[in-house]
Amino acid sequence: MKIIKRVVDIRKETETLRKDGKIVGLVSTMGYFHDGHLSLMRRAKKECGKTVVSIFVNPAQFGPGEDLKKYPRNFRRDCKLAEKEGVDYIFSPSAEEMYKPGYGTFVEVETLSKIMCGRARPGHFRGVCTVVLKLFNIVNPHRAYFGEKDYQQLVIIKKMVKDLNLNLEIKGCPIIREKDGLALSSRNKYLSGEERENAAILNKCLETAREMIGGGERNLEKVKGCILERLRKNRFIKKVDYFDFRNTATLEEIKKIKKEQDKILAATAAWVGNTRLIDNKIIKV
Ligand code: AMP
Repeated sequence: MKIIKRVVDIRKETETLRKDGKIVGLVSTMGYFHDGHLSLMRRAKKECGKTVVSIFVNPAQFGPGEDLKKYPRNFRRDCKLAEKEGVDYIFSPSAEEMYKPGYGTFVEVETLSKIMCGRARPGHFRGVCTVVLKLFNIVNPHRAYFGEKDYQQLVIIKKMVKDLNLNLEIKGCPIIREKDGLALSSRNKYLSGEERENAAILNKCLETAREMIGGGERNLEKVKGCILERLRKNRFIKKVDYFDFRNTATLEEIKKIKKEQDKILAATAAWVGNTRLIDNKIIKV
């Protein structure tokens, strides 16, 4: 496995791979790997001739007062784990390599960036789209793999690819969870023992929504009301940013299930203590 820090170097590598007829897969990450990250690498490895994993804690997607400085990092461990998965290249540029002095170009998928997580984190998706487009331009992969854990991010990136006529395929991959249902996240590290135990409530509430809808409930405002009450009763949940039902493709809000709907997205973001966690589930109707 090659570890590459500079844009010119990874570009040279993937240009050669493409000339040799290899299919290049990209998994973009902020590092501190868990099984969710590794599942994307496995999928890329299975479907592509060569796999590039980027590790870059992207300053542009963190707002003022967010956890950029304390975001967990362990580069050596990440490299070992990626190598074990058969990853071919780690691309881990510095912030200066990605954003040279005077940097001034940003990409924004309008509307979609302003709802759900975008409402609570203004500028977040602008930072994500900018770095992801830069990585696409630098690595020039045939396919890029993203987790459904960050469902809104996945929809936004697919939209960016379509709107800007980017020549690659975006692949969504299922959420990997702990035994109690908590979605794996690098930020789970921030949770205290008691917070960790209570964090599974997010997945449980999504499960409850599924059950209520499965039981024939069509009024989603009612489902949302029950769930918000349950979340607010838990003393470890400091704040609920949203618990929404949305169209799986367009992210439009759905308040009542109509006959033509065959599936909906239930998605939530909530603060467990000082840690903001997100989770979602696609519910078949
Ligand atoms: P991050 O390092 O948090 O930016 O995540 C890098 C990639 O891994 C993104 O595409 C995430 O959606 C994906 N990912 C993170 N957690 C999970 C998970 N629990 N299951 C599946 N994919 C995940």
